[in-house]
Amino acid sequence: MSNLTIERLTVGYGDGAPVLDGLSLDVPDGAVLALLGANGAGKTTLLRALTGLVPARAGRVTIGGADLTGLRTEERVRRGLSLVPEGRSVVVELTVDENLRLGALWRHRGPARRTAVAEMYELFEPLARRRDAVGHTLSGGERQMLALARALVSRPDVLLLDEPSLGLAPLVVAQLLGVLRDTAARTGLTVLLAEQNVTGALSVADRGVVLSLGEVVADRPAAELAADPALRHAYLGF
Ligand code: ATP
Repeated sequence: MSNLTIERLTVGYGDGAPVLDGLSLDVPDGAVLALLGANGAGKTTLLRALTGLVPARAGRVTIGGADLTGLRTEERVRRGLSLVPEGRSVVVELTVDENLRLGALWRHRGPARRTAVAEMYELFEPLARRRDAVGHTLSGGERQMLALARALVSRPDVLLLDEPSLGLAPLVVAQLLGVLRDTAARTGLTVLLAEQNVTGALSVADRGVVLSLGEVVADRPAAELAADPALRHAYLGF
C-alpha cells in the first residue's frame, strides 16, 4: 500500500502568512494525480513540505498509513518518498551511470542495485546509449530523463515531480510522461505531478487537483477537468 494522504497541512515561510492553510488531499495507491495551478499557487511549497524540506506548522502526512510527519528528509526517502525537483536535478560532474548508482544507494545493496540500474536503461533507452557521458554534456531532455530515472531507480512508493516538462520539446515531454504513466500502472507507484503543462499532465493523470492561493479549488477526474473551459479560464489561464 502506498497511498499518500495529506491531512489539514499548514505550511508557511518564516513568520509569514501560511502558503498552505489546512490543505487535505488523498492520492490512492498507484494513482497519478496532476497538481495544477498558476504561478505562486503553492505547488512547489506542497512538494517541499511533503519531503520535509519546509517544516509543516500543522497537519499530517502518511504513506500507506505510516506517519511521516516530523521525519527528516532522508528518513522520508527511506520510507519510499522521492522528489524530482524543478530544474533537472542530476550531479553534472558524474556520468549517467554514476548518477543512477548514486540514486540506487538509498534503497538497494549489491546485486539488487545493479538490477535496479539495468531496469532504468530498459525504461529509458537514450540513457543506455549515454551511460558513460558526463552529466553536463547531456541535452535538456536527456538530463530530465536522468533526473526521473535517478528517482525511479530507488523504487519509490510515492514519486513527487515538480514541473518535469518545463523547457522540453513536446516529443520528449510525451515520452517522459508516458514512462511515468506506464510505470505507475505496472508497479503501483503513486505519483503527484505538479505541472504548468496542464494538457500534458491531464493526459496521463487519473485525477487533477487545482490549487489557487494554497487552497484546493477543484478535485476531479482528469478527463472531466480537461473538458471544463470555465475552470481552465478561471485558474489555469487558458
Ligand atoms: P511556481 O509554478 O511559480 O513554482 P508554485 O505553485 O509552485 O508556483 P510556490 O513556489 O509554492 O508556488 O509559491 C507559493 C507562495 O509561497 C508564493 O506566494 C511565493 O512567493 C511563496 N514562497 C515560495 N517560496 C518561498 C520562500 N522560500 N520564502 C518565502 N516565500 C516563498
